[in-house]
Amino acid sequence: LEEQIRRSDRLKTIGQIAAGTAHEIRNPLTAIKGFMQLLNKSLNDRGMDKEQGYVGIVLSELERVNGLVSEFLLLSKPKEIKRDWMEIGQVVQEIMPMIQNEAIMHNVTVLYYPQPGLPPILADKELLKQVFLNLGKNAIEAMGEGGTLIIREHGDPGGSDKLAAEFIDTGPGIPPDVLDKVFDPFFTTKPQGTGLGLSVCQRIVDDLGGTIEVSSDEHGTEFTVWLPCAKT
Ligand code: ADP
Ligand code: MG
Repeated sequence: LEEQIRRSDRLKTIGQIAAGTAHEIRNPLTAIKGFMQLLNKSLNDRGMDKEQGYVGIVLSELERVNGLVSEFLLLSKPKEIKRDWMEIGQVVQEIMPMIQNEAIMHNVTVLYYPQPGLPPILADKELLKQVFLNLGKNAIEAMGEGGTLIIREHGDPGGSDKLAAEFIDTGPGIPPDVLDKVFDPFFTTKPQGTGLGLSVCQRIVDDLGGTIEVSSDEHGTEFTVWLPCAKT
């Protein structure tokens, strides 16, 4: 618990800094992107292939910066969380097409085990989709040579008013000395990583009144998201 408090304090500080700067960065980015697209079109009209290639690189790098800024904005406290009752399975279903798409590109099989009859959860659907997507993407990215991603949902056998969504992969696992760092902002082991995905997940799940847990060994990794649900 102490660890979780430390984590969420650090996230608050980062979130405040992020909130102040992310919007300021996004506005000029939008202008740059717009004019780059116009330039791209002119170059295309003139058959200037080489120059169009340069602009293409600028545009794709812009997308990366944009992604980073989006994660910053999510780290900053959302203005207001819109919590509603919903089926956890419905949330998983809505991210499935995106997960499947990513999985195909990485030669990963996705197995989803819906569990009918679970009580509804209290959550913000868009934010929760962001969490599930991040966990799914991380799992798929971890399985470089293909593998299996299992997504499960279940109640608490202990009988608490929480239920869980699990993302289990057959990747290489997270070394023990790294395991307590994965939620730290900017911690990444990927050449192109931002290290913000799990910080964003942690922040959102915190705000939804849930918890997020990880366990891992050399056979794979399991992330579990506990969310408040209706009493049964
Ligand atoms: P990023 O994906 O940009 O690296 P994240 O915050 O999403 O940032 O993840 C941080 C780090 O945690 C990753 O770089 C990776 O080392 C580790 N990680 C997260 N999920 C997994 C997973 N399913 N299997 C192995 N390592 C993982
Ligand atoms: Mg990630």
